[in-house]
Amino acid sequence: MTTSPPLRLLVVEDHHALRANIAALFEAHGHVVDFAADGRSGLRMALDAPPDVLVLDLGLPGMDGLDVCAELRARADRHIPVLMLTARDALDDKLLGFRHGADDYLVKPFAGEELLARCLALSRRHLVGDRHVIEIGRLRIDRRNGLVEREGQRIELAHSPYRILLALAEAWPRTLTRSELVHRLWGDDAPPSDPLRSHLYALRQALDRPFPRPMLVTVHGVGFRLEADA
Ligand code: CA
Repeated sequence: MTTSPPLRLLVVEDHHALRANIAALFEAHGHVVDFAADGRSGLRMALDAPPDVLVLDLGLPGMDGLDVCAELRARADRHIPVLMLTARDALDDKLLGFRHGADDYLVKPFAGEELLARCLALSRRHLVGDRHVIEIGRLRIDRRNGLVEREGQRIELAHSPYRILLALAEAWPRTLTRSELVHRLWGDDAPPSDPLRSHLYALRQALDRPFPRPMLVTVHGVGFRLEADA
């Protein structure tokens, strides 16, 4: 039996035998598994009853996993952790998955126990997102009063750099794309040219400059993420 609370998992996978294997494994550990065999019904189910973790196949009939993920990110009122499954192991696919909002990624064939471990990790990260205080390594953000500390030192941030940091912290350890960040900060009214540039610079100066190791990391060709300095 599992020692953590049961997960509600939604598996969107068109391969019948794989679906059955995943169900057997998760149910043996006390978790609850729902299924969809195509992208559109999977998306509808995820929006109607958000699961703790969505396990999403990349190659699906009708609407593929990347489109499901992008649509989910645009329409869901909360962050649903997404683990993407794919038979392809090219780096390009991984980057594409993250650009479409996946939190994690597993290449087929995979060990069932690894899928289980990653789903549990994703769900725990998700729970962290509901608390007032976010702690990532030695960074601490109190969302009630906007107080930010790193290694016990107060980090002073203006409004936009703070919101960038908060968005990255809430998504941690996922990489946020530039367009996700721009959308998070300004919605559809983003300023022209490169609106993030000066705010990212200000954030780096305050968050990273006084410390030996940067927490704000550029993922080339994708976007930005936080790296814990524990
Ligand atoms: Ca498939």
